[in-house]
Amino acid sequence: MSETAAWVDLEVSNLVRMEEMRQLSQLSLVASENYSSPIVRGFEGSIFADKNAEGYPATRCASGCEYADQLEMLAIERAKIVFGCEHANVQALSATIANFAIMNELFRPSDRVMAMRLQDGGHLSHGAPFHASGKNFRWCFYGVSKSDEQLDYDEVRSIALANRPAAIICGGSSYPRLIDYEKMHQIARDVDALLWVDLAHTAGLVAGRAIPSPFPHADIVTTSTHKTLRGPRGGGLILCRGSMAKQVDRAIFPGLQGAPKMDLIAARAVLLGEVQKPRFQEYCADVLKHAKALERGLVYAGATLVSGGTSSHLLLINLLRCGTTGVEIERLLSEGHIITNKNAIPFDTLPPSKSGGLRIGSAALTTRGFREEQFFEVGVMIGKVITSGRNRDMVADLRSFVKKNTAGLPLFNPKWMT
Ligand SMILES: *Cc1c(COP(=O)(O)O)cnc(C)c1O
Repeated sequence: MSETAAWVDLEVSNLVRMEEMRQLSQLSLVASENYSSPIVRGFEGSIFADKNAEGYPATRCASGCEYADQLEMLAIERAKIVFGCEHANVQALSATIANFAIMNELFRPSDRVMAMRLQDGGHLSHGAPFHASGKNFRWCFYGVSKSDEQLDYDEVRSIALANRPAAIICGGSSYPRLIDYEKMHQIARDVDALLWVDLAHTAGLVAGRAIPSPFPHADIVTTSTHKTLRGPRGGGLILCRGSMAKQVDRAIFPGLQGAPKMDLIAARAVLLGEVQKPRFQEYCADVLKHAKALERGLVYAGATLVSGGTSSHLLLINLLRCGTTGVEIERLLSEGHIITNKNAIPFDTLPPSKSGGLRIGSAALTTRGFREEQFFEVGVMIGKVITSGRNRDMVADLRSFVKKNTAGLPLFNPKWMT
């Protein structure tokens, strides 16, 4: 590398520019993706990135933390206001790490933990056999009913009664319906278990007052910040009752992590200010409305939706009914510049590498400023790709639709910044 290349890294800069162009010229319908505001993103990589603030405000392992302390306390206060809870920990480096930290602190290896089956919409950090959570604790699982592909709370109760878990985890990655936290709380209380809500996907919709909050029903809530919450990627929040504050903090540090990433905490603090604005509530209402428009488009084109539709930002399409697979449709859509992901569906007969389903969501394109009628049109086009025997001619149609509808469209629409 030449001397100047060391300062202006052309190879990396070029890849960043290519990625930016890719994001601008394609449509992301990945339910776990979003675009954070340029203001939030501007604080990632700020000067706080280099500060070692291992520990917590007022009990750090190094000095020079007076501003780091103020910053972290500000983020904590904002998180408590946004989610209406008594304690927040803002240090987790991701939601997956937050989940594992909590398990390590709260459970013994002999404890049984209950969660939603991965295939039915759960998450790999909730006891998947190939994940550390699955290897370190004993698990039992509940799922959706065969008849309507939604949670059957009577069945959840009987599994809880039979297994007497230490905790019941609810919330997942591909369950398109809302969870009745009050019912889950009653079940948890009846078997003397903690109710733990993993809010990673719908945290934004809760913060934006568009769907019911897990509080006051949940004992503990973990979440990522980059999905519907529209914040920086990487970084988890843990929210809980005041009586669990010490345990939760200990779980992260010194339980599992070392020093937090203070620039990420700065970005999260800015995010937690942003989501308190009325504009964010408007954004969340749009996300829900737009998911419904996708639903109408898909159903119009003859696609089959898991659970018959959606009550959130997320839709799961059953492809087995059309004799195709997730891997095939994901690839075709990607050639048409529409980015999605293959996903297992309840009662899937295919391995995860193929998958019988496709997962999409409305959060990212709503951030870009896509309108309801555009979502409907995207839904129809995806539905046609699925039902038309994977007709390759459709790829050209998709590309021209994407080209027309992304021309001049920013990633983060300035209308959300007011
Ligand atoms: C996305 C997700 C996570 C993981 O979030 P990361 O911050 O990417 O680790 C955890 N739980 C659920 C339910 C998720 O959907």
